[in-house]
Amino acid sequence: MLNERNIKNFIVLTPLLGVILTSFILTKLFISEVKSQYKTEVQQLLIDEEIKVKEIVKNRIDNIISLLEKDYNQQIEAEKEDVKNIVDIAYNIIKNTYNKNKDKSKDLILSEINNQLRDLRFYENLSGYYFIFSDEGTTVLHPPLPHLEGINYKDYKDYKAKNTINKFINFLDKNDYGYITWEWYKPQETTIKQKIGYLKKFKPLNIFVGSAKYNEDVEEHVKNKLQELLNTITYDKNNYIFAYDKLGNTISHIKKELIGKNRFNLSVEGRLLIQEIINTAFNTKGSYISYLATINPLTKQPSEKISYIKLFKKTNWAIGTGMYNSIMLNNIKKKQLLMKENLDYTISKVIEYSFLITIFSMIIMTLISRKVGNIINIYKNDLKEINNTLEIKVKNRTKELENSKNKLKEMALRDPLTNLYNRRYFEHTIEKLISLAIRRKEKLCLLMLDIDKFKNINDTYGHDIGDEVLKKLADNLLELLRNSDVITRIGGEEFAIVFPNTPIEAGYQTADKIRKVIENLKIEVKKDILINFTVSIGITLFDENKDKDVHSLLKRADIALYEAKDSGRNKVVIFNEKK
Ligand code: GH3
Ligand code: MG
Ligand code: MG
Repeated sequence: MLNERNIKNFIVLTPLLGVILTSFILTKLFISEVKSQYKTEVQQLLIDEEIKVKEIVKNRIDNIISLLEKDYNQQIEAEKEDVKNIVDIAYNIIKNTYNKNKDKSKDLILSEINNQLRDLRFYENLSGYYFIFSDEGTTVLHPPLPHLEGINYKDYKDYKAKNTINKFINFLDKNDYGYITWEWYKPQETTIKQKIGYLKKFKPLNIFVGSAKYNEDVEEHVKNKLQELLNTITYDKNNYIFAYDKLGNTISHIKKELIGKNRFNLSVEGRLLIQEIINTAFNTKGSYISYLATINPLTKQPSEKISYIKLFKKTNWAIGTGMYNSIMLNNIKKKQLLMKENLDYTISKVIEYSFLITIFSMIIMTLISRKVGNIINIYKNDLKEINNTLEIKVKNRTKELENSKNKLKEMALRDPLTNLYNRRYFEHTIEKLISLAIRRKEKLCLLMLDIDKFKNINDTYGHDIGDEVLKKLADNLLELLRNSDVITRIGGEEFAIVFPNTPIEAGYQTADKIRKVIENLKIEVKKDILINFTVSIGITLFDENKDKDVHSLLKRADIALYEAKDSGRNKVVIFNEKK
C-alpha cells in the first residue's frame, strides 16, 4: 500500500490539493461576498436615487411656493397701491376744483366735484368708482346708487348690524387717510362681499373720498398673475410644474391646452389621479405620490412618476412636480452599469490571481516533488548499499564459519605432522570401503607399513630429524599412490594403507614399489650428512567370509608386517594362512 510512489504522491499531492482547494474556496467566498456587496450597493443606489429625486422635487415645490408667496404679497400690495393711487387722483381733482371755486358755495363746489368724479370707472372689470361722504355721515357721491346721495347714514344699520359709515368716521378720527376693509354689495349682485378700500379726508370741505376693490376681484387678479408666473416656470422638458385648484381646474400644466380645463374626474388605470393630488395637497403638509402619469413628454407615453404635492394656501392650489421613473431608472442603470463593470473587473482579477497562485503552487510542488523523489532515491540507494554490504558480510562470515568448521573437521581427522589422515579417519573409512567392496564384489587390500629401526634414527639424529623422516615418507606415499588409495598414520611410525578394488598381486607390486623407492631415498638431514631408511610392509586381502569386522583384517595385516620384520625387515609380506 505505502509504496515509494504513494508516499511521494502523498507528500506532494496533499499540500497541493490543499492549496488548490483553499484557493478555490477562498475565491468562491470572495466572489460571492463581492456579489452580495454589489447587490446591496445596487439596492442602496435605488434608495439613494429615490431619495435624491424626492429631494429635488420637494425642493422645487418648496421654492416655487415661497416664490408664489412672495409674489402674492407683492401683488396684494400692488392692488392696494392701485386703490391708493386712484384715490389720490380723486383727492387732487377735489383739491383743484375747490381751489378754482373757493368763492362759490359749498354745495356748488360739491356738485362740481360730483360732476367730475361720477362717471369715472376703473380696474379691469370697471367695478371701481369713487364715493364721497361728509364727516357727519351724509352721502355726497355714490355713483352706483345715486338715490342714496343726501341721506345721512350715521345711524344706519345694515343687515349685518354693522354701520360701515360709522366705521369710516371712526377710522378717520384717528387717521387722515389709509386702507380699510369692509363689506358691501357688489353691483349687479345681491350678495355682500369683502372690500378693501382707501379713504382720504379733504378737510376744507369736511368730506372724505374713497374707493375700493372687491377682495374677490383682487384675489382673482392676483391669482391670474400668479398663474401667469407659474406657467412661465419650466425646468427641463421632462420636469414640469402642475397645479390644480380645489375643483380640479387646471392652473398650470406643460400642455398649455389643458390650462383652465377641469380634470377633476380624470382617471388613469382606475385611479382618480387629480382627486388624489388635490386630496394629498389639502390633507398633508406636502407629500409624495407615485402614479402612472398620463404623459411622459420625452416618450409621449404614459409613464410611472413620483411627484411631490403641496398646497399653496393663499390660492388653495395643489401644486406639484415629479420625475419620471424611467429617467430615474436610466440614471440608476448608468451607475449600475459602471458598478457592474467594476464588479466584473474585480472578479476577473480575483480569478486571475487565484489561478496564478494555483499555478505557482503547482510549480513549487512539482519542484518539491522532484526534491522528495531525489531524497527518496538517495535513501533508497543508501539502503541498497547497506543491504548489499550486509549481505556480502553475512555470506563471507557464513563461508568463513563453514571453512573453519570444515577445517576443524579435517583437523580432527588428520595428523598434524604428516597431514595424512589419522587413526580415527582410518577406522571410520575402512568400514565404508569394506561395505562398498562387498556391494561391488571388488577386492580390497590392506597394508600395514612400519619404519625399520626408527628408534635408532631418533637416537642418532634427534627427534626433529625423526619427524622429518616421517614427513618425507608421507610425501612419498602420497606421490606414489592413487587418489583413491587411503593412506593413514595410525601410530608413531606405523601407517595403514587401503587399496580399494585391488587384487592381492597388484597390491603386493605397489607395496614393493613403495619399499624400493624408500630404500633408495636419501634425506639430507644436515650439510653433507645423508641418511636413508627402510620400511617393512604386511599386506592382506579382505575376505568377506572371514572378516566379520575390521579387526580380523587389521590383525592379519599386522601379522604379515610382523613376519616382514621377523624375516629381516625391508620386506613386503602377504599374509599367509598356512604358515
Ligand atoms: P623395529 O625395526 O623392530 O620396528 O625397530 P624400531 O626401533 O623401529 O621399533 P620400536 O617400536 O622399538 O621403536 C619405535 C620408535 O619410534 C619409538 C619411538 O621413539 C619412535 N617414534 C614413535 N613415534 C615417533 C615420532 O612421531 N617421531 C619420532 N621422531 N619418533 C617416533
Ligand atoms: Mg613400530
Ligand atoms: Mg619400527
